[in-house]
Parts: sequence; structure tokens; C-alpha cells
Amino acid sequence: MKVNGINETVFYGKIIDTHAHIGTLNGHEYKKEQLDVFVKSKLPNDDIVEKMYVSNIDVLTSAENEFDGNKKTLELFKNNEKYEIFASCSPKDGSIDNIKKLYEKYPDKFIGLKFHPSIQNLSPSDKRYEPYMEFADKNKIPCLFHSAVSVDEQGKISKTSVEVSDPRSIYKLARKYKNAPVVMAHLGAGWNESHDRAIDVLTESIKKGDANLYADISWVDIGLPHNGNFPAGEHRDKEHIIKAIKKLKGIGDKDWKYGDQSFRLVFGSDAPIDRFSDKNDRIKEYTAFVDDIKYAIRNDKDLKPEAEKIIDDLFSKNAEKLYNKTNKPPARTPHPNKNKWGWISLGLFLLAGGILLYYKKRSEGKKS
Ligand SMILES: [Zn+2]
Repeated sequence: MKVNGINETVFYGKIIDTHAHIGTLNGHEYKKEQLDVFVKSKLPNDDIVEKMYVSNIDVLTSAENEFDGNKKTLELFKNNEKYEIFASCSPKDGSIDNIKKLYEKYPDKFIGLKFHPSIQNLSPSDKRYEPYMEFADKNKIPCLFHSAVSVDEQGKISKTSVEVSDPRSIYKLARKYKNAPVVMAHLGAGWNESHDRAIDVLTESIKKGDANLYADISWVDIGLPHNGNFPAGEHRDKEHIIKAIKKLKGIGDKDWKYGDQSFRLVFGSDAPIDRFSDKNDRIKEYTAFVDDIKYAIRNDKDLKPEAEKIIDDLFSKNAEKLYNKTNKPPARTPHPNKNKWGWISLGLFLLAGGILLYYKKRSEGKKS
């Protein structure tokens, strides 16, 4: 903890960036060197990017096959503890056999599976996802799905909008494979209603306890104007990130009985794509994204009291719990009612047994 010149308390922290890439997208080539700049030294705000989780776009676009493309990524980042690697999957024209072969040949080397329904133009309802999800489900492997919804200029979803990466179709798939944590990247990219849809899907899955859904916040609230509540030109509003944290904590929902579910939100940037591709601006953009989120959390009246814990969880702890390579059982949504009645009936059963025993002893005592 440190206090800066204008008496504002500043906390420096650790960052785990769960969403980064190499490969070529829309004619732009993204390289390891463009990621190295983030991990090699502290950010200007003194935060440290401890890890970046990388996936190879070239497998998603089918420019490389699943086995060779992912093997190449492993080799490129070999022996560098700053990076973890996703196995990119191509259900459209690949095969789960490639992924199984990779997991056999390189045990404990992959952090999860990466899917991109939009690039592949393949809806999560397509049967070709099933063998991949069965493998993930069996081995409790986290699956990162690009998620997005098309919105108009007001951020509204049109009735005719058909989006292959819609959070609703990802949820539908995740329901069939509850042992696999499924992460909706970008919290339903777009803005306004697209994020609201992803947040609704998350909370619905928690209430129903029928899937193990997570989301990352890469791209979320990027284009928002500077909010009038914040010092002019200093910080951008982070409306949907704040909304998601509150909803997952049940803040403002008097019927919420699922505890703190905000562990389902993790930090990600999508570096070095788009706004991180300019070598003069990328560190500045990245640090501003991080700082604006922290500022928004610290200045929200509901989140303020535990702001530092929320920041810690969002930027590193949640990711460490979700993405571990040791095949620990994933966090399950609690079913408070079921658990509650289970304990109550056990209690009643023991009580009845005790009473019976007491009277049996008493009547036996009278006899003798
Ligand atoms: Zn991405």
C-alpha cells in the first residue's frame, strides 16, 4: 500500500491475464514479442502481470491444424513461467483425437481449451462440439468460449439478431457438461444489452445450478464515455463490470441465497489484439484498463468496503482457482435448499433416535 501525491490510497497488485493471443486475425499478425512487453517489467502503476494465458488464433481460423498449431505454441513459450497455454480447438474441421494426443504427449501443459464459434461460424449447438466437451467434462478442463451478441448503436439487441457466439447458446451447451467450467469471454462482447444478456445467463445458471459458468471481462466497457461522476478525462465508467460483480454477490437481490458467486468473473485483456497492437500505446491502454476498473470498484458505494478484496479476486485469485492444471473438482453452485433440508432431516432423525433410546432405557430401568 502506498499513498500518492494527491493523498489517494493506491494498492499495487498482481495480475493474471486469462485472455491473450498469438496468430493472425484479419490480416494482422500477433507475436510473442508483443506479449513479452507486458510481462517483462512492472506496469507504470507498479502492478505486475504475473501470467498471461495464451491461445493460438491460427488453429481457430484453421490456418494450422490442432496438433501442430498447439504444439508450436507450447514450444514458443516453453520454459517461460509467465505463460500458460490453451489448446485451441477447431470443432469445424478438427478432431478431439488431436487434443487427446496433445494432452497425452504434454501432460499438465495446457491450462484449458479455447473455442471461437464466431471465427469458425459454428454454433455451440453443433454436434461437433460434443466430443470436445465430453473430454473437458471427464477431465474437468476449463473451456474458454468467445461470446458476443450483435447490438445496434444504442446497445440494443435487435429481435432478428442471430449470433453464433450468443451466451445463451454457450449456456445451453454448458448445461450438458457440468463438470467442465465454461468461461464466456468478453462477458458477451458488444455493449449494453449484450453484457446484460451474459450477466443474466450467469445468474440464471447459478439460480438453477444447472451449469458451471464463468466470464472474463476482456473488452467489457471499453468504449464507454468518461462518466460525469469521475474526474473529467481521468477514468472511464465500468458500468457492466460493476453490475456483474454486484449481481454475482447478490447485492440488491433480497431473494439471493447463493452466497458470493463473484469468483465466476476473471480478468482478461485479449492482448495484443486491436488497441494493444500499437507499440507506443499498448502499455498505456492496458494500464488504463486496469486502473479504470480498480477506480470504479473503489468508488462504488456498495463495493467500496471490500474493494481491495474484490480487486485481488478479480485480477488474480479467481483465475488461480479456476485455471489450475491439477484436475481438482470445479466449484459447484451450492443448492442451499437441498443442503438445508438434508441437514434438517438428519438432525430430526438423530433427535428421534435419541428420544427413543432415552425412553427405552427408562422403561428398561423400571423393569429391573
Ligand atoms: Zn480473444
